[in-house]
Amino acid sequence: MSILVESVSKLYGKQKALDNVSFEVKTGEIVGFLGPNGAGKSTMMKIITGFLPPASGRVLVNGLEVGTGNPDVKRQIGYLPENNPLYPEMYVREYLGFVASIYGREKKSKKQIDRIIELTGLSPEQNKQIGSLSKGYRQRVGLAQALIHNPAVLILDEATTGLDPNQIIEIRNLIKEAGREKTVLLSTHIMQEVEAICERVIIIDHGVIMANEEKSKIYSLVNQPKQIIIVEFDKHVELSELSGIENIGNVKLIRNNTWQIESEGQEDIRPAVFNFAVSKNLTVLSLQKQQSNLEEVFRHLTS
Ligand code: ADP
Ligand code: MG
Repeated sequence: MSILVESVSKLYGKQKALDNVSFEVKTGEIVGFLGPNGAGKSTMMKIITGFLPPASGRVLVNGLEVGTGNPDVKRQIGYLPENNPLYPEMYVREYLGFVASIYGREKKSKKQIDRIIELTGLSPEQNKQIGSLSKGYRQRVGLAQALIHNPAVLILDEATTGLDPNQIIEIRNLIKEAGREKTVLLSTHIMQEVEAICERVIIIDHGVIMANEEKSKIYSLVNQPKQIIIVEFDKHVELSELSGIENIGNVKLIRNNTWQIESEGQEDIRPAVFNFAVSKNLTVLSLQKQQSNLEEVFRHLTS
């Protein structure tokens, strides 16, 4: 076990930002912490990293309880906070040396700084002032400071928010690269992020865990009430004719001769649609089942 969150609650005044939250992230996993704005992701991450105390419950990182003042816990954790606060007047290399020194790593730091600068692609920028860097490069510096003391656990809060599409892909690749030898919990409100990077997803909403599943299994959480298919016939059909198909639900014409058809129940209605076409002397030009995506699961669980 790498991160163990046990019955954590957190109040801001009367508002419950986290309500009895428990989950585990195992060694080596990359887990997405997914939820809409205000769900409690940043609060949870601040508690895991020891920046905020929980109202109740506790967090263990590699078996050590967070928030007890034990310096060994902080050494286990690399943290990229939301909005990535940095010192704009410092130089990249200088800043990373400064962070390394906080962890008491002056002796080993030159080699480690070289390694991290290389890993995060900061070589060309290492002697520039942080304030002069693009947002994408500043995010790399944020990742570099989280990695500099070689922590076993990485906590990344909205690491790609505010970046352009190319930068997003670069930072995701960096996270995947860094995550090969680490345990990673990354928060995001973007479903594709989870699809792209994570093995497991924890969905949180209003401070409550709504789902905690392997990415491949999360789709089955939504017992999709309906099947949706898109069918294209070669000729015009009347809506009234289609409604004669067994178990048919909503039907919508989406293009010329192309229909979106929902089933009433959960059964696959493709055979019935096919038989209908045969009986009406129609040719089926295409017939596809629509996959539900993570976005739908997310909306289903958090609405
Ligand atoms: P997320 O990171 O998922 O967007 P947060 O953890 O930042 O969510 O916030 C969870 C809830 O707690 C929100 O409703 C937010 O307004 C509230 N909140 C966060 N920080 C504070 C604070 N320092 N004081 C009062 N309320 C806060
Ligand atoms: Mg947040």
